[in-house]
Amino acid sequence: MKGRKLLMIPGPIEFEPEVLAALAAPTTSHVAPDFIEAFGEALEWMRDVFLCPDGQPLVVAGSGTLAMDLAGANLVEPGDRALVVNTGYFGDRFAALLGRYGAHVTHVRAAVGGRPALAAVEAALQAGRFKLMTVTHVDTSTGVLTDVRGLAALARQYETLCVVDGVCSVAGEALRMTEWGVDVALTASQKAISVPPGLALLMAGPRAMAAFHARKTPVANYYADWANWLPVMAAYEARKASYFGTPAVNLIWALNVSLGQIVAEGLDARFARHAALGRACQGALAALGLGQVPLQPEYAAHTMTAPRYPAGVSGADLLPRIGAAGVTLAGGLHPAIKAEYFRIGHMGPTSLNDLLATIGALEVGLAGCGYRFDVGAGVAAALRAYQG
Ligand SMILES: *Cc1c(COP(=O)(O)O)cnc(C)c1O
Repeated sequence: MKGRKLLMIPGPIEFEPEVLAALAAPTTSHVAPDFIEAFGEALEWMRDVFLCPDGQPLVVAGSGTLAMDLAGANLVEPGDRALVVNTGYFGDRFAALLGRYGAHVTHVRAAVGGRPALAAVEAALQAGRFKLMTVTHVDTSTGVLTDVRGLAALARQYETLCVVDGVCSVAGEALRMTEWGVDVALTASQKAISVPPGLALLMAGPRAMAAFHARKTPVANYYADWANWLPVMAAYEARKASYFGTPAVNLIWALNVSLGQIVAEGLDARFARHAALGRACQGALAALGLGQVPLQPEYAAHTMTAPRYPAGVSGADLLPRIGAAGVTLAGGLHPAIKAEYFRIGHMGPTSLNDLLATIGALEVGLAGCGYRFDVGAGVAAALRAYQG
């Protein structure tokens, strides 16, 4: 880490040395017995991580957007109706993707930084028969956390599939697929799964599988067609060789290492650790007098934070100063407010020390910009809030 900046953006993130070592190991055949074992074990651990004991895991080389495609391409048939619970940039992306496969998309939107009320979602579900509803668990463009549990219960009530974009949440925010009735959850390796970019991960529950098997039209995306990948996943879980497209061998070795670490930490402990990191970051911002994009404290995610620049401070001035102090943060993403806020990722292996270093670098940057505050107040508040 010496001479190297701390990467504190909402993915990619800092990775564990054992995970990086797996990437650097000599590449094996994708049908080598030890690789088959590692892939099979990773698929089994995915059910533990998604808390979906009867789910069907899929791991395919690609980014998180491919994971969204794996859901959209396989669940949508032309003319189907889809409801997008939209909390920002990635809701817009899901809507565009579903539309590409012929879905008629309805949005339930909120103001930037807000989230649609359950009553508004219920009114939309009542008004039209939707085959599926998508929810972005944490929209990385706003740092808004949605109430997946409440939304999934509504989807059940109205016999609509609940698809969760968990790219910025799975293995960080509490997400209990089976218990909450979530039908599909998807993510990418570089977020809280804590493996460098390159793997799309998806878990399909029984209702999603039934909807796929009941299709009347072929899947309009060859690479993403579950029919191509299901036999491959089944074979690796049965510790047999199989082939459709060459798996990203080293990334899957790394995935095996990281999922093993996540399961060893325990999901409840991991959710609690992320909750504490979120509290600490938000406590620091409040002490420094910085606002946040989420409009209510309970809307704020625990895997990332979206602080607003204080009056008189610009991103062009602040972010390079934080970088010079040793920490890389991300600028804004939501087009409507891009220049007004920045983003801090604190997921996966992020420790309290990493977060304190980040808040320290933020304080150095703010002071350099001429912003007046009580030096050390952010770090002290983070420490206090982390203890609960
Ligand atoms: C990062 C992210 C994506 C897109 O993932 P890519 O790997 O960049 O394709 C989708 N949804 C959410 C919520 C994300 O945070």
